[in-house]
Amino acid sequence: MPKKERYMLTSALPYANGPIHLGHLAGAYLPGDIFARYCRLKKRDVLYICGSDEHGVPIMLRARKEGVSPQQIVDRFHEMIKSSFERFGMSFDYYGRTSSPVHHQTSQEIFRTLAEKNVFVLKSEKQLYDPEARMFLADRFVRGVCPHCDYEDAYGDQCESCGTSLSPLDLINPRSAITNAVPVLKKTTHWYMPLAEFQPKLEKWIAGHPEWRSNVLGQIQSWFKNGLKDRAITRDLPWGVPLPEDVARKAGVDAEGKVLYVWFDAPIGYISATKEWAIRQGDPERWKPYWQDKDTKLIHFIGKDNIVFHCLIFPAVLMAHGDYVLPANVPANEFLNLEGNKLSTSRNYAVWLDDYLEKFEPDSLRYALAINMPETRDADFSWQEFQARHNNELADALGNFVNRSFTFIKKYFDGALPPAGDPDELDRQLLAQIETTRNQMAVLLDNFQFKEAAKTMMSLARFANKYFNDKEPWRTRKENPGVCATTLNLCVQTIHALAVLMNPILPFSSAKIWKMLQLPGTPDQANWDQIGREKLPAGHQLGELEILFRKLEDEVIQKEIERLRKAQEETSPEKPAPEYLSFEDFQKVQLRTARVIAAEAIPKARKLLKLQIDLGNEKRQIVAGLAEHYQPEELVGKTVVVVANLQPATIRGVESQGMLLAVKDDKKLVLITPEDATAPGREVS
Ligand SMILES: [Zn+2]
Repeated sequence: MPKKERYMLTSALPYANGPIHLGHLAGAYLPGDIFARYCRLKKRDVLYICGSDEHGVPIMLRARKEGVSPQQIVDRFHEMIKSSFERFGMSFDYYGRTSSPVHHQTSQEIFRTLAEKNVFVLKSEKQLYDPEARMFLADRFVRGVCPHCDYEDAYGDQCESCGTSLSPLDLINPRSAITNAVPVLKKTTHWYMPLAEFQPKLEKWIAGHPEWRSNVLGQIQSWFKNGLKDRAITRDLPWGVPLPEDVARKAGVDAEGKVLYVWFDAPIGYISATKEWAIRQGDPERWKPYWQDKDTKLIHFIGKDNIVFHCLIFPAVLMAHGDYVLPANVPANEFLNLEGNKLSTSRNYAVWLDDYLEKFEPDSLRYALAINMPETRDADFSWQEFQARHNNELADALGNFVNRSFTFIKKYFDGALPPAGDPDELDRQLLAQIETTRNQMAVLLDNFQFKEAAKTMMSLARFANKYFNDKEPWRTRKENPGVCATTLNLCVQTIHALAVLMNPILPFSSAKIWKMLQLPGTPDQANWDQIGREKLPAGHQLGELEILFRKLEDEVIQKEIERLRKAQEETSPEKPAPEYLSFEDFQKVQLRTARVIAAEAIPKARKLLKLQIDLGNEKRQIVAGLAEHYQPEELVGKTVVVVANLQPATIRGVESQGMLLAVKDDKKLVLITPEDATAPGREVS
């Protein structure tokens, strides 16, 4: 027997600071789960790992705000996230957490190994320190004005307004996010990962992966082009994986109050969760082949905002260590927008998984996200599209085909699978379509093209539904019972094939069909390569029919759209609706050319000039605020544009019968004059 291919799959560790939303699912979780399920059906040796990322400043800030400990925050969100993932059908082999002892140990071991290999550089420098809270202000503990865009509330690590990544010392007028105190500069020592040194090695490694997604390679190349910068991988914070004391001692630095940077320890969470999985399997060494055997394919499923960490920083750490495999691929997804707008968790402009699962089935969302996955560019989720996908594709094509086939067999064949006779042309087409679908989907899934794979699966359901129509079994039942039996036999063979083909994307519906077909075990145990080859025998008894997808009504969908619209309105700053001028209104304004005949200053009015103008058939007097921009004599002889039907007014005791048009150019006023000399009194339109 050939050796099984080994896959180590990871999905980005969700940050235990809030619930999961659709953007997370489309980015890192659904693609990972589809791929893991597919690998299991392909009988590969696969392990799929995830867990909660429980360190970092935002968790501490939230804890302070709520007056609880960081541990209480992460305990709450770890449980919440874990449970909603389960209900969504995420099939992790293990879901860990970075506050666990195994993780702390593993992170410290890797850090220690790198320190012993003299990989790190130590730098002492002055950093911002809050004298009231008596702590250094790393990352999001400090806020201030962005030096790039003047945004007043930028974080110490990034400006949310212009997206620039910052360091706390870049901020103008920094203030502590804890006490609002003005920070002082205080000397501290930190360990740096010398990424600049690693760049040539990383470049060589990336050059060996031209098969990666172009959007991922593009981002990596731009990091290379700008030159990788050394990164501090320790922090002065009270929450995180403590800096190993022995390492600090050797360096002559006090370890007290120092922790590993969250982005150093978080990816190590994949390894420590694999270790915990192995311990639970009763074989603590079993994690090793998944991370240390050179034949293992390590694949990270992430969103594009994590590319730098998974494609450059973590691989540099693994390279430096030497015992680990490097990722075989990092199929990072782009972002998912919502109803045409950017998702925003702070403004509650998001669809939360927990909310969703209270009202709808997980498979409907899995399908809608898979078939619209932001693989190479941003995608948009809209509730109306969700409803249309559910009603027209899941219910009307897939569900209807299963339902009508079952109903027919229950009614006319006592629920037992009728025998298949010789296939005709259309029968052969259906059988061929099953083969093609299996082969095409395999190629697509192996290339992380989930969107196309979902489309291919649905094409088979549509084809089969049409096959049922074209074969007219309700007619052949009386005229040619053998043909009718063949038709229904093939329908059931197709349903069996679909149950496995759809399993990675629609696991819950796949399991329902499995039960309806009264097949042994579960569809997850099926063999992908047997799809369409393994046939159910004639006489096989079908189980109870279950409706797979109930149609979604407009009003249910409308409620969701309405909720998002309100979230958007409540939080976006009042934007006045543009006031349009109707054409009729515009036509009321009479614009005419006029020639300036005379101009003089008005005593005691510094800004005003009194002009005499010729409108062709009449002469008028106009007061204009031009004294600071033109000498009176400059104006005489000029052709200008005036509003001829403006209500006369008296300005500083001088009558004005119209208004001159001028352009406000910064602080200067420039008269509008026709390009060619024009006779006075002409209409301007
Ligand atoms: Zn900015």
